[in-house]
Amino acid sequence: MDTDADILISGASVAGPALAWWLSRHGFHPTVVERAPQLRGGGYAVDFRGPAHLGVLAKMGILDAVRARQTHLSATTIVDRQDRPVADMPAHVFAGDVEILRGDLATILYEATRGTAEYVFGDSITRLDEGPGGVRVWFEHSPPRTFSLVIGADGLHSHVRRLAFGEHDRFIEDLGLCVSIFSMPDSAGLDRAGVLCSVPGRTAGVFSTGNDRAIAQLYMAVPALGHDHRELAQQKQIVAEAFEGMGWRAPDLVAAAQQAPDFYFDTVSQVHLDRWSAGRVALLGDAACAAGPGGNGTGNAVVAAYVLAGELAAAGGDYRAAFARYERLLRPYVAKGQKQARGGKDFLAPSTEKKIARLHRFYKVLPYLPVKRLMKYLTTRTAAGINLPDYPAQEQRA
Ligand SMILES: Cc1cc2nc3c(=O)[nH]c(=O)nc-3n(C[C@H](O)[C@H](O)[C@H](O)COP(=O)(O)OP(=O)(O)OC[C@H]3O[C@@H](n4cnc5c(N)ncnc54)[C@H](O)[C@@H]3O)c2cc1C
Repeated sequence: MDTDADILISGASVAGPALAWWLSRHGFHPTVVERAPQLRGGGYAVDFRGPAHLGVLAKMGILDAVRARQTHLSATTIVDRQDRPVADMPAHVFAGDVEILRGDLATILYEATRGTAEYVFGDSITRLDEGPGGVRVWFEHSPPRTFSLVIGADGLHSHVRRLAFGEHDRFIEDLGLCVSIFSMPDSAGLDRAGVLCSVPGRTAGVFSTGNDRAIAQLYMAVPALGHDHRELAQQKQIVAEAFEGMGWRAPDLVAAAQQAPDFYFDTVSQVHLDRWSAGRVALLGDAACAAGPGGNGTGNAVVAAYVLAGELAAAGGDYRAAFARYERLLRPYVAKGQKQARGGKDFLAPSTEKKIARLHRFYKVLPYLPVKRLMKYLTTRTAAGINLPDYPAQEQRA
């Protein structure tokens, strides 16, 4: 494989554009195909923690842009179902070093790469045929093309994974939760604050994003529902049924979900594969190793993009060696995030009144604990737990 090879990336959210940035930097020619007709907005806040995440953003020159668009959420009030405050969480309890809406992050990454990578929106790969010199790729709409490598950065339900590795269910560990996230008017006047309420098996939160807008986040403790992850009407119905009878502000939230332009719904699942590459096809981000909430998925995806592109460049075209080193470096790192996220269910949607009461007691004392030290410990253990090699850019290598 040449060091200026054409590389196809499937998925233009976080991992895909981040990889496109680094591949261009090393002299490769990335093309990104995204199924959605345009860059997808939506999603709640994602965060970056510790020197590995922040270091990669800084090397990309986008750390200031990310900081400029951070959420500035002030505090989150935990309330009981009668809307009585239980505890106030300072912003830094939930946010990492920098917190940004996923849609804003995707826009920054897209803007940073649109000049150097080719983007094809509204299309999807239908078939991959690997030959000695590359992978022949067929698309739903575009004519077939040959690429040296194909990278699946197409998320939890990765289509590339299905084509090159096997059926979805083989690689998924369902964490027993579903989540719905959507924007809505800030009708409660939260003004940069958040409010969160749990009843057994369900948690509803609303977080102001400023400008009279808010984002709702609904967690429901239901196992994988066999829903079609592209069927919005069915998903909205699932949310309505799950939150029926919850009380609190749930009826308003369910009504807002029906109107939301950016309604998002998915199971909370992890992805586990024995290998992240098969021949000339490799996986990145959630497609390879989704962790679920609290597992550093977004920051780790950006770090993984840096490593994958860097290893491809360092291996001088030996993609097998590059894929093997990428996986060796990243696996222990993402495993820590996955382990951390596995405990999330009792935190996100506690199943009994007793568990909710215990969580409330925890929330009440949390502001008095040395939270900053605790968070630093947690991030050092997981998000910062990797020593990143330096990969000289093409002009430095020459
Ligand atoms: C709309 C949306 C909202 C999200 N909201 C949150 C959130 O609030 N909090 C949070 O922690 N995480 C959220 N996530 C997940 C988060 O973005 C990821 O966990 C993490 O950033 C890793 O990103 P990724 O690029 O690997 O995968 P993802 O962000 O899931 O991106 C995958 C991309 O691949 C595209 N795609 C899927 N199938 C195909 C196909 N066949 N062909 C081409 N493209 C395809 C998708 O449209 C998407 O753009 C959200 C993801 C999406 C897509």
